[in-house]
Amino acid sequence: MSRHKHGVFGYIIRTIGVILTVSVLAGTCLVPSRVRAQKDLTVEFVEYAFHTLLEKDPEGEQYGFWYRNIKDGNTTAAGMIEMLSESEEFSEKNYSPEQKLTLLTKVMTGKELAEAEKERYISYLDNGVSLRRFISDVSKSPEFASVCAQYKITPGTVDDLEPRDLNPELAVFIGELFTEMYGRSPSAKELNVWTQYFREGKQVAPTLQQITVSSDYTSRGVSDDQTITSLCHLMLGRDATAEEMGKYHEVMGNGVSVDYVAQMIASDPSFASRCADLDIVPGEINLTQARDLNYEMTSFLNHLYSRLSGKAPAGEELNNFVRRLSEDPSSIRSVIWDVLSTPESREILASDDDFLNAVFEVFYGHEPEQEKITSYKIALSHGITRERVLISIANDPAFDAKMSEYGLDTHIEKEVPKKVVALTFDDGPYTDVTMRILDTLEPYGAHATFFVTGDRVNRYKDCIIRATNMGCEVGNHTWNHTTLTRISGDAVHKQIWDTCDAIYALTGTYPKVMRPVGGSYNTTVSENVGLPMILWSIDTNDWKYRDSQHVIDEVLNNVRDGDIILMHDLYDTTATAVETIVPALIDSGYTLVTISELAEYKNVQLENGKPYFSMRG
Ligand code: ZN
Repeated sequence: MSRHKHGVFGYIIRTIGVILTVSVLAGTCLVPSRVRAQKDLTVEFVEYAFHTLLEKDPEGEQYGFWYRNIKDGNTTAAGMIEMLSESEEFSEKNYSPEQKLTLLTKVMTGKELAEAEKERYISYLDNGVSLRRFISDVSKSPEFASVCAQYKITPGTVDDLEPRDLNPELAVFIGELFTEMYGRSPSAKELNVWTQYFREGKQVAPTLQQITVSSDYTSRGVSDDQTITSLCHLMLGRDATAEEMGKYHEVMGNGVSVDYVAQMIASDPSFASRCADLDIVPGEINLTQARDLNYEMTSFLNHLYSRLSGKAPAGEELNNFVRRLSEDPSSIRSVIWDVLSTPESREILASDDDFLNAVFEVFYGHEPEQEKITSYKIALSHGITRERVLISIANDPAFDAKMSEYGLDTHIEKEVPKKVVALTFDDGPYTDVTMRILDTLEPYGAHATFFVTGDRVNRYKDCIIRATNMGCEVGNHTWNHTTLTRISGDAVHKQIWDTCDAIYALTGTYPKVMRPVGGSYNTTVSENVGLPMILWSIDTNDWKYRDSQHVIDEVLNNVRDGDIILMHDLYDTTATAVETIVPALIDSGYTLVTISELAEYKNVQLENGKPYFSMRG
C-alpha cells in the first residue's frame, strides 16, 4: 500500500497547481484531502460516472478506491461502469430498464440512445439478458473511445460474458420458449443453462418435441391447438395463418398426433432461417408414433374406427392398429372385427341395416349393392353371424381393391396345407347326427361339406346355420332325393334350383356344388344341373353297414391327399365314427376342408355339369 501512496503522492506534486484551484472550488466535497488535492481527469471521470449513474458524488473511500484502481490499470472505464451498474446503490435507484439504458448511454457516449436500439435492448433486458451485454456493446463504439480519450482513461470492455449475454437474441428466444411452454420466465441460471445448451449445438425441434411430452408441459392441460400455436410462435416466429391452421386441423382430424403437425411446422423454410439468425441448429421432429409414420393408413383406420364405432379412436388405439397392419396388412379383417366388437360399435350398429351400410362403406368405399345387401340381410336374419358375413364381404375382390388405395396389400396368400381331405355328408341334415358331427369338427376348426336335400332345409335350419357359421359348406343334393337320370332336363333343373333357392332363402348364399343322388348322371343331367357334380373317391358304405368301426377302417385305411369321402349324416354310427376319424386324420397331418376349399388348394377350376371324384395330385 505504501508504494501506492507514494506513487500517488508523486503524481500529486506534478499536478498540484491545478488540483489546488479545483479543491478550493469544491470545498464541500468529502474527498480525502490528498486525493482531492490531485483532482485530475481521472478524478473527473470518477465524479462524472457517479453523477451520471448514481446522481451523487463519490463518498469517502470511493474516490481513492476508483482512482487507484484506474490509475494502476486494475480497472478500465468500461469495468468501472459495469461495477457501478451492478452496485447496490444503482439497484436502489429502481431505474426502469429504459432509464438504465439511457444513463449508461449517456455516461459512455455522452449521447442519446437511438430509439430502435433502445427497444432492442429493452427486449433483451426483459428476457433476462444482463446490462453487461449492453455495456460490452457500447464499449466497442467510437463514441465511447472518444469519451475515454477525453478523460485520458483506458476504455476497456466487459470480459467473460455469461452464455445468456453472448447471444441475447437466443436468450430472448429462450424467454419466449419458457413463456410458451412453461407459462413463466426463466431464471438467470436457467437462461444461462439453456443458452449454453443450444449454443453447444443441441437441436431445437427435438427439444421442443420433448417438452411437449414432458410432465411439466402435459400437466398444464394445454390443448392441441395451443401447442400448435406455441410451436408456430417458437419455430416460425409468428402465428399460424388461418389456412395453415385449417390444414393442421385436417390432418389431426385424420388421426395423426401433434408431432406430425410439429413436423409440418418444422418443414417451413422460415424455421431454418430463424434458427440461422439465432445461430442454433433447427433439427427435425422425430416421428415415433406408429400413427404418424403412415398417413394414408392412419387416415383410413381413423375413418374406419369412427364410422364403425361412432367415435374417434384414442391415439394409442390407433398406434396399435397401425402397428398390426404394418406388420400384416391382411390383419385388417381382425382389426375391423375388433372395432366392431366394441360396445360402442355394437350400440350404434345394432340394426343389420346400419351394420351392413357401415361395413360396405368402409370395405368398398360406397353404399352396398342392393343384391348383396339383401343376401347378407337374409343370412343375418337367420342367425348367420356378423363375423361370417364379414368374411364373405372381405373375400370380395372389391375389398382388396379398396384397401390397396390405402397402400394395404390385404390379399391373403393362403398357406396350402400339405395334405387335404374333404369329408362329405349326404341326405341330411338330421339334428341328432349333424349336430354331433359339428360338435366333433368345431374344436379343430375342421370343415366339411353337407349335401342337403331341399325339402329338409327349413326343417333343419339350425344345423345349416351352425354349419355355415363354422365355415362348412352346404351343397345341393336335389329337392327330394330324386335320381336325376330318371327325369327330364327341365325336371333336373327344377330339382336343383328349388333347392338352391331354399338354401339361399336361409343363408343368403347359393350353393356352389351339387352331388347327384346315387352318383348317377348322364348327358341330360350334366347339361341341366348348372353346378359342378361332386362324386367321391372313398365310399364308407355307412348306410349299408351301420358300423362305426367299418367306417373308421374304410377311411383311415384308404385315405390319400385330395380324397373326397362319402358319408351320410343320418346315422348315429356315422357320428360315432366321425369322432374317431376327425382327430385321427388331423394327427396324420390332414387338413379337413370343404369341397370349394379342396378345389382352391388343388388349383382346380370347378366347371358346371362336370363330375369330380377326387382331387388327388
Ligand atoms: Zn343321397
